[in-house]
Amino acid sequence: MPLKPNKTPMPVQDSKERIKNFNEVALGYSEADALKEAERCLNCKKPLCKQGCPVEVPIPEFIQAIKEKDYEKAIEILKSKNNLPAICGRVCPQENQCEKYCVMGKKHEPVAIGRLERWVADWDLNRKKEVKSIEATKGKVAVVGAGPAGLTAAADLAKMGYKVTVFEAFHKAGGVLVYGIPEFRLPKEIVKREVEYIKQLGVELKLNFIIGKTKTIDELFEDGYEAVFIATGAGLPRFMNIPGENLNGVYSANEFLTRVNLMKAYRFPEYKTPIRVGKRVAVIGGGNVAMDAARTALRLGAESYVIYRRSEKEMPARLEEIHHAKEEGVKFKFLANPVEIIGNEKGEVIAIKCIDMELGEPDESGRRRPIPKEGSEWVMEVDNVIIAIGNSPNPLVPRTTPDIETTKWGTIVVKNEDGETTKEGVFAGGDIVTGAATVIEAMGAGKRAARAIDQYLTNKKIM
Ligand SMILES: Cc1cc2nc3c(=O)[nH]c(=O)nc-3n(C[C@H](O)[C@H](O)[C@H](O)COP(=O)(O)OP(=O)(O)OC[C@H]3O[C@@H](n4cnc5c(N)ncnc54)[C@H](O)[C@@H]3O)c2cc1C
Ligand code: SF4
Repeated sequence: MPLKPNKTPMPVQDSKERIKNFNEVALGYSEADALKEAERCLNCKKPLCKQGCPVEVPIPEFIQAIKEKDYEKAIEILKSKNNLPAICGRVCPQENQCEKYCVMGKKHEPVAIGRLERWVADWDLNRKKEVKSIEATKGKVAVVGAGPAGLTAAADLAKMGYKVTVFEAFHKAGGVLVYGIPEFRLPKEIVKREVEYIKQLGVELKLNFIIGKTKTIDELFEDGYEAVFIATGAGLPRFMNIPGENLNGVYSANEFLTRVNLMKAYRFPEYKTPIRVGKRVAVIGGGNVAMDAARTALRLGAESYVIYRRSEKEMPARLEEIHHAKEEGVKFKFLANPVEIIGNEKGEVIAIKCIDMELGEPDESGRRRPIPKEGSEWVMEVDNVIIAIGNSPNPLVPRTTPDIETTKWGTIVVKNEDGETTKEGVFAGGDIVTGAATVIEAMGAGKRAARAIDQYLTNKKIM
């Protein structure tokens, strides 16, 4: 069969239709699409794709199982390493991970590994197979935070035979997967079903439980937990410290997205949480969070602008998200930075003042540094400003556990890749250690910590 140079296209909802709803944009492969795409994999002797996967998924093996139409085997292989494949298949930046190294990508488009992962994972979720819980014969472990890092560590520890309890501050498990990433990219039903799988493994979830308030880490040890994994993420929004940030109509992307996603503000008054979106919204930033906020504002009926201080080339958002945002009609103002948000006498936003930027020498991030062009200020009328310039770690747990060392940015100091902190028996991983990063990196940290906790508790019992 001749080799197909391009990926099998992903069916998507039409852009004119999808801006009127919150349904998923990418519709997923059919079985025929999945088989066609799987055929593109060369089943390489040296599968470079694997080295790009932070959770070590046996990629060619699961693709081979798809080729053989043995989907049961494909999902078993996937789940041997990845507890949340339907999520990763949707939101992982594959272009910078597995697919970046795929041998096919040297001359042609890489194999669409993420799309295949999503297809197998959805096949599995749709058949609603019961999972047998594993008998917990080992010690008790506490996990703080039910985001991708915490859920992964919890699932792996349960599979190893530990009795795991996850403590989560919100009323729903999933972390950014439920409160940050919008429904049109990651349906909450998918997160719910993957969380269900983790519960079926025997993991206990305690929701509305804030560690640092309801109980401290030390109290968890007093309750008989023998090790703790902290995975509280980076949910604290950063601001620009410019005049006007306290005006009505200014949101942090976190607040905006949490209201819309977790509290279903887009279905107000059916759901109680309101959100006030005017005719024109400016979103500040260039990452996934900015794209999500801009596309959400658009769906709430606003004209949506992204203001980013560098050029399109430097934007950290996933390529697919930028592409989808453009298709939907989000407008971009590159090389511009806000200097002031302007309000009326009632304290409401009416405009934003920005300055043009140019790019200088690369800075410590390796990207060219943006420099303001003197005298180039301009004003745009807007009704809302959404600030999406990054998040800082959640400070509550470190603040109430003084023997856990933190950096000046508030991230938890770990001694090694396993996430061992300065406090005996306490491990940490995900955004609380790295600062805002990716779902799969957080999951990788959860996996390594689970292994290390098992090692730690085994050694403790031998000694
Ligand atoms: C809008 C948005 C879009 C994103 N898009 C992508 C994307 O497309 N692809 C990608 O790979 N990454 C994306 N990311 C980044 C990614 O979601 C994060 O890197 C990842 O979720 C980090 O996982 P985590 O488990 O460390 O933390 P989180 O997902 O933040 O989970 C931490 C959990 O801990 C809970 N918690 C905090 N403090 C306490 C406490 N004291 N007690 C109990 N519970 C507590 C929180 O409520 C939360 O549920 C996005 C992030 C945002 C904000
Ligand atoms: S590198 Fe690409 S072609 Fe080779 S095994 Fe991995 S996915 Fe298949």
